[in-house]
Formats: sequence, structure tokens, C-alpha cells
Amino acid sequence: MRYAILSDIHGNDVALQAVLADMEAFSIEQRAPLDAIWCLGDIVGYGPEPSVCVRRIREHANVCIAGNHDWAALGKLDLEDFSEAAASSAEWTGAQLSAEERIYLRSLPEKTVIGEFTLAHGSPLNPIWEYLTTTDVAEPSFSAFSTPFCLVGHTHLPTIFLLPTADAELPRFRGSSPGLIAAEHSYEGAGGRLTATQVMTLAPDEIPTIRCEHLTPSEGLWMLPRGYRAIINPGSVGQPRDGDPRASYLIYDDEVGFEFRRVPYDVELTQQKMRANGLSPRMARRLARGI
Ligand code: ZN
Repeated sequence: MRYAILSDIHGNDVALQAVLADMEAFSIEQRAPLDAIWCLGDIVGYGPEPSVCVRRIREHANVCIAGNHDWAALGKLDLEDFSEAAASSAEWTGAQLSAEERIYLRSLPEKTVIGEFTLAHGSPLNPIWEYLTTTDVAEPSFSAFSTPFCLVGHTHLPTIFLLPTADAELPRFRGSSPGLIAAEHSYEGAGGRLTATQVMTLAPDEIPTIRCEHLTPSEGLWMLPRGYRAIINPGSVGQPRDGDPRASYLIYDDEVGFEFRRVPYDVELTQQKMRANGLSPRMARRLARGI
């Protein structure tokens, strides 16, 4: 089975179309259509084409959950919790949506479970609001879902958090003297090597107790190591914030693993559309830098 996972489109239809075209190219290359498309919320907010993005997601995504910006556009959230630019964009976005589009956004669940996956926009503990940015914040989330994987968006950063299960095969760290600090834990994928470093005090030959780990994947393939559960963020389609302006999304193939994909799109066209609609110039500029 193959699934495409998208998040944080933010009314950027130029980026969304580029990602859908990339999925199509992937299907042709693989000679098999994708089995499903899942969307992790924030279809709207910031960007110039909220209605078109809602229509396109309704047409293409098999499953979608709600994000904080979707709720903000519906007036379901207090805009005082938003920055000034985000709040004024939420008001503008709300005014663009048809009654039918509003009903659709209102119908989106906060969290859902599909097979081995739990889907939540922010985190499984606090689906609408919580930002999973550090291992300290992510670790408690692992007790809020029971599937092997949880898929989240919200931070706009491609990210993997890992937690070993009781039967995980942990690497043996050989220290030469007591008190050595250590442990580099690496995962190899076709896209390269991802490394997490944990600092701890170990006696010689002690097996480290590795807790939650944080990986920042680049483009390419990654596979879950045996004995681990993972929280995975595909990054953002319409407003990436990891310094790479290309749209970001994920394809999961249950025989191969997770492929983090980046897709260039016409950023200037989206910026022009934002300017034409009087949207925040700062929000338009950040798209070019991926911040
Ligand atoms: Zn977002």
C-alpha cells in the first residue's frame, strides 16, 4: 500500500498543484496509483486561495483532519491567540469561504486512526494547538496514541521523533572508562544517514537507555528501525519553515518506508496573488526563503 501525506497547505494552491502533479509523476513511475491521500490540516490561512485549496483537498484527499487555521477561519478559535498577521489573514480567509466549504471544514475531526497510523494536526495529546518541537515535548505524546506511527503537522518542519518499545534492539555503547558521556544513534536510509546524539553517563559496557530521539530528515527514504514507534511530520506544502522554500510532503510505502519529497513551485506566482488580495507582505516574502 502507498499513501501520500500532506499538511499545512495554507491556501497556497500553486504549491498544492505542484505536489499533486508530483504524486501523479510518482504513480506513473511506480506503475501503480497511490492507495490514499491523507491531509493533516491547515488547508487554509495565510495564503491567497483558500476556497480553491478546500475544493482540491475535498476532491483528492481520502481523509483530512482539522488544523488551528481551519478553525480560526471558521471563527471557532479566539484570534487573540494568533499573531496580528495570522489573525487578519484568518478574518480575510473566513470571508472567502462559501457556506459549503465552511460546512466541510467544520466536519473535519481533530484526530483519527487509520490502521497503523494516528493522525493529529499538532500532537496526539493536544491535536489543535501543541507544537512538537523538542524531545521533551514529544515524549509524553507517545502515551497518547497506541498505533506504531503518529502523523502530525503544525510546525511546518519535516521531523521524526522516535521512542523505543520494550523489545527494541538498542546499540551497545562501549565506553573505555566509567563516566564517559556518549551515544550516537544512527539510522541509515537511501536518502542518507540520520543521526541523533544523546548525552549520558555510562559505565564501561553499559547498555544506554535511549529515550525519545529527534531526527531532521532531508529528502529521501527512511525506514522505522525495529522496536521503535515514531511521530512523523511531513513538513508543509504551502509554507515550509526549514529554510527550503520547496513544498514538502511524504509518501509511505509499507514495503519500502517513508519518502520525504520536496517539490519546487512558482513561489512568485503565489506572492503575486497574495499582494493582489492585500495579504501580509511579510507572509508573502517568507515563502521565498522557506521560513
Ligand atoms: Zn500550519
